[in-house]
Amino acid sequence: QWHDLSELIHGIVDSIQVIGDQHSIQVIISSESKLYGSYQELYSAFSNLVVNAIKYSPEGGNITIKWENNLQEGIFSVTDNGLGIEARYIPRLTERFFRVDKGRGSSTGGTGLGLAIVKHVLLHHDAKLLITSQPGQGSTFSCLFAASRIQQPLLNKSE
Ligand code: ATP
Ligand code: MG
Repeated sequence: QWHDLSELIHGIVDSIQVIGDQHSIQVIISSESKLYGSYQELYSAFSNLVVNAIKYSPEGGNITIKWENNLQEGIFSVTDNGLGIEARYIPRLTERFFRVDKGRGSSTGGTGLGLAIVKHVLLHHDAKLLITSQPGQGSTFSCLFAASRIQQPLLNKSE
C-alpha cells in the first residue's frame, strides 16, 4: 500500500513528543511523496532511527528528520549531534545484538536489535541504509528507496 510520508513521519514524532522528550526535533519534508510498503514495518524502521538519535545524543540536542526525493531515489534521513560512531564500528552496527560500547552507561540500555530490524525492513523495501558519522559530532542514518517505491507529485505542474 501507498503511505503518505509526511503523515508517517509526523506520526512518529508526535508519539515521541507524547512520551515527552528533551530534544529539539526538526522535520523537513522537501517533497510531498508516498512510499509503497508495509506501514508497520516502515514505522518501526523509521522510529528505531529516531529513537537512536535521541538515545545517543545529549538532552537538548538537535535532531533533524528529513524526506527528500529526486527522480532516482527517495531518502529518509535522521541526523543527530550526539556521540557519533567510530568508522571501524559502522559496518557492524546492523548485526544483531551489536552495541558499540556496552559500558557506555546503563542510562542508554538496549538490546542491539534496533538496527538489525531496520536493515531487515529496508531489505524488504528495495532500500539501503547509509551511515555517516563523526565521533563526538554526530551521525546521519539515511534510508535510500528505489524510485519504484515512490510516488511524487508531478514535477512540471503548470501554474
Ligand atoms: P535497541 O535498539 O535494541 O534498543 P540499541 O539501540 O543498542 O538497542 P541498535 O539500535 O541496533 O541497538 O544500535 C546498535 C548500536 O549502534 C547502539 O548500541 C549504539 O552503540 C550505536 N548507535 C546507533 N545509533 C546511534 C546514533 N544515532 N549515534 C551513536 N551511536 C549509535
Ligand atoms: Mg536502538
